[in-house]
Amino acid sequence: MRSAGRYAPSPTGRQHLGNARTALLAWLSARRGGRAFVLRVEDLDPGRSRPIFEQTVIADLRWLGLDWDEGPDTGGALGPYRQSQRSELYAAALARLSSYACTCTRRSLREVASAPHGIEPVYPGTCREHARVSAGAAAIRWRAPPGIAQADDLRLGRLAQDVATEIGDFVLRRGDGAWAYQLAVVVDDAAMGIDEVVRGEDLWRVTPRQVWLQRALSLPTPRYLHVPLLLGPDGDKLSKRHGAPDLATLREGGADPARVVAELARSCGLLDAATQRVSPRELVAEFEPARLCGAGTPVDPARLRA
Ligand code: GLU
Repeated sequence: MRSAGRYAPSPTGRQHLGNARTALLAWLSARRGGRAFVLRVEDLDPGRSRPIFEQTVIADLRWLGLDWDEGPDTGGALGPYRQSQRSELYAAALARLSSYACTCTRRSLREVASAPHGIEPVYPGTCREHARVSAGAAAIRWRAPPGIAQADDLRLGRLAQDVATEIGDFVLRRGDGAWAYQLAVVVDDAAMGIDEVVRGEDLWRVTPRQVWLQRALSLPTPRYLHVPLLLGPDGDKLSKRHGAPDLATLREGGADPARVVAELARSCGLLDAATQRVSPRELVAEFEPARLCGAGTPVDPARLRA
């Protein structure tokens, strides 16, 4: 059995510093554990994904000093590494699940592929009983089985959820044909031999439904480490509003990547304030999930530009 970790960006915009820290931590954890590292591009939403953002992510990550064994640019035996090229696998998984067409309004479907981070309402099961024949634009929902899904996280402990009643039958494929993030991520993590998922804490709440899908598809459950989100000085998720530059802006502006890495590592408790420059490689031996402090110290944009 192979052992691999991954970073799975959605190429829908420029990477912010929070993305960079998540990528760094996923890479550190994989390297520390002797795992392969996979870069998987989650370009599921054709309306929002752009090749230019994939190129930017790759340039940003390399600039920071991260590398990967498999990815859209390096290739690998378990590719393709862009979700837009993996539809057949998602269709095969869908065929193994009990599902039905749903013609409920677009508004209730919109969140699915494009926003794994949003809050969505419980699906009331409107289309469950009378599988309506529709004129093409129906979404496909999973008939979520009853029971309690349990997800374990190395930092956050256990999350238990009754998916059928707390989430409802969720969408596997949108009405416009786009595959839902939940299905794609479960299929790909298994197909790519990912046995450790490191990602942002905002995805913790969708983890039980992924575990539920893994069970229904008889796929293994990886170990999970949901890492803190990078916060601004006011305690909110760091964003442009705080004057934080995106990664490409730092890179193009001639910032020192070793300083950026040091700042990111310091902000989550992996490095003391005295160390001003560090490479990802120098941090590998230090990495322990238990060392990640909660929200940590905010990142100071001025220090990054210096
Ligand atoms: N593509 C997702 C995102 O950009 C991450 C999915 C994952 O790591 O499971 O937030």
